[in-house]
Amino acid sequence: MDHVDLRPTRRQILKAAIGGTAGIVLGAPVLRLAGAQAQAVADGAGPLRLSDDLFVVRIRGEANVIAQTDAKGVLLVDGGSAAGSDALMKAVSALPGGGPVHTIFNTHWHPEQTGSNERLGKAGAAIIAHENTRLWLTQNITWPWNGQRFARLSKIAQPNKTFYTTGKLDSDVRYGYIPDAAHTDGDLYVHFPKQNVLAVGEAVSGQGWPVVDWWTGGWIGGIVGGLQRLQTLTDANTRIVPARGPVLGQADLKAQYEMYGTIYDRLSQMLNKGRGPTEAVAAAPTKEFDAQMGNPDEFVRRAFESLWAYLSPDA
Ligand SMILES: [Zn+2]
Repeated sequence: MDHVDLRPTRRQILKAAIGGTAGIVLGAPVLRLAGAQAQAVADGAGPLRLSDDLFVVRIRGEANVIAQTDAKGVLLVDGGSAAGSDALMKAVSALPGGGPVHTIFNTHWHPEQTGSNERLGKAGAAIIAHENTRLWLTQNITWPWNGQRFARLSKIAQPNKTFYTTGKLDSDVRYGYIPDAAHTDGDLYVHFPKQNVLAVGEAVSGQGWPVVDWWTGGWIGGIVGGLQRLQTLTDANTRIVPARGPVLGQADLKAQYEMYGTIYDRLSQMLNKGRGPTEAVAAAPTKEFDAQMGNPDEFVRRAFESLWAYLSPDA
């Protein structure tokens, strides 16, 4: 698998490259900001109805969860954090036509999405994810840029139905891998063709600058590629549900594609001139977008480091 073969090489390069700065904790302010923004959105509403059987379940301080009700119960796209799981399950059971959760998708491995896996795995639900996501969830992970640690999940909480390219459920729900590796190397989308809804996890950020988790395979080029690829699954009426923020439309994907493409070009040029992440931040490569998107420093730093991971001649 790419996943297993590439990772050690990237890690060795990046460990060498970021060396002395790896211990500096810069992540906390951004995480606080993201939390506050998520709360502001969650304050606006409970479940958002997309169709008779499809809802965005919004819990204060939690990432978006999509719930589809059917004759057998409920299908979820993502499951919130472990701390928010009780509130999520309560909200899901209160949905019109709600029942037991029989299926959950993990759009990627992060704990903001996989916190209900254990309870649902124990209850016998299908936990669907890309194989790379399962692999990440079987090991302990430490982010080098801020030292944040993530413990592996217990066996029962790990995805039990994995795939590599695409899949389809009996209910006509379709899902597929986003191989560009936008946020991680296990990103997936879930497509509800009847309702014209596309769930995209954090491959698309609906709220502020994204986390570019290059440690588990995401990169700025993948953000651009993913936005291009996802547009091909949409039309002018498609509702696109990201892990954070409001429901988006096709025009939003197009605008984001152009913005991240511009940023990618600027950072690549700096890389080619031998510049580093601190110089990239100082050059303000996102300046015309910052009023709308917020402080870009962490994003630019991670995005630049992700270029090292993917474009370094030794990789
Ligand atoms: Zn994430």
